[in-house]
Amino acid sequence: MKILVVNAGSSSLKYQLFDMDDNRVIAKGNCEKIGIGGLITHKRPGKEDYKAEVELKDHDDAIALVLKLLTDAELGVIASIDEIDAIGHRVAHGGKLKESTLVSDETLNYLYSIVGINPLHGPPAIKGIEACRKSCPGKPMVCVFDTAFHSTMEPVSYIYPLPYEYYEKFQLRRYGFHGTSHRYVAGRVSEMCGKPLSEMKVITCHLGNGSSITAIKNGKVVDTSMGFTPNEGLPMGTRCGNIDPTIVPYLMKELNLTPAEMDNVLNKKSGLLGVSGVSSDCREVNAAADAGNERAKLAIDLLIHEAKKIIGSYVAEMNGVDAIVFTAGIGENDRGLREAICADMDALGIVMDNKVNAECPRGEACDLTAEGSRARVFVIPTDEEYMIALDTLKISAQ
Ligand code: AMP
Repeated sequence: MKILVVNAGSSSLKYQLFDMDDNRVIAKGNCEKIGIGGLITHKRPGKEDYKAEVELKDHDDAIALVLKLLTDAELGVIASIDEIDAIGHRVAHGGKLKESTLVSDETLNYLYSIVGINPLHGPPAIKGIEACRKSCPGKPMVCVFDTAFHSTMEPVSYIYPLPYEYYEKFQLRRYGFHGTSHRYVAGRVSEMCGKPLSEMKVITCHLGNGSSITAIKNGKVVDTSMGFTPNEGLPMGTRCGNIDPTIVPYLMKELNLTPAEMDNVLNKKSGLLGVSGVSSDCREVNAAADAGNERAKLAIDLLIHEAKKIIGSYVAEMNGVDAIVFTAGIGENDRGLREAICADMDALGIVMDNKVNAECPRGEACDLTAEGSRARVFVIPTDEEYMIALDTLKISAQ
């Protein structure tokens, strides 16, 4: 069985072709600069990468090129697109859809209907799906939503203390994001602990350019730090995360900003970049901090501080924690940040073995638990694409 996973952004389209018989990626790549030029990188394990500038007017062009390369006599890995059994799409926002769903006219119409609450990520995901429908008519396709895993939250976790009619009228509530990643590492941590997830209290920390932390009790999400949009919770590369909401109207008035300009400040000019003034990239901010840049150090400290607050509140919400997991670009690679987040949390039963943490090879899952720690601590590389492929395989076969 072969499953193609597609992750369409506004000007990019990433893809991975899985052979599910042996859980292997047989080709993957990225189309970039869609609509503003065009660049493709196509990779096959053990073979030389193929890179080319090709005009990509839209997502239709990108998908057509991906399918051409996958079936190319020289660069391809399959003889024809008939060998692809199904296509899985990463879709950031599923609104009220609580699980991965087969693509139909009804699903697409629903996704169009919620573009208003998901203006950035909704349209490109829909374009990716439409392009695949055109190129591969009749091929089973599945949408896997970043929000779905969080749909088990109770109203007490997802309702904002605003006038209730805004929830009813504008679907204004906490949705949470990165759900596919949180679900994947939660599953892995249950395997590594040899205990069913349905009997565990787990906190998963997805720390990357976008970051979120999730509390999972007995297999169900009870809380997550991202909210109505991915700009709640931790400070991120360029997003502010939690701030006093009244700062927004104050700044709009003081700086005479339109809603779009204000949104740009909150989403593109804040977080690590805004505080450090150096970069949105954690490695660069770390390097500046190491070289003595005080604001860079402050930016990293704000991230550590907020992560501790959120973890602590989730331990309180679940009345304990059995395992904490770090994942994504920063969580998987930044040993210093992992150490700083877990430092001085012994009162909560969380103690990391700093030596094991410092020696854990990048790209590998490691058990970082110190002797005597009540909670276990792990780093586990995430694999959202594999999770999407698994869901696609399961749902397309039903
Ligand atoms: P992601 O969004 O998951 O791809 O993560 C991107 C973030 O991971 C960026 O802020 C990178 O700087 C960060 N990152 C990647 N490698 C490292 C590293 N070795 N140390 C610190 N941060 C890293």
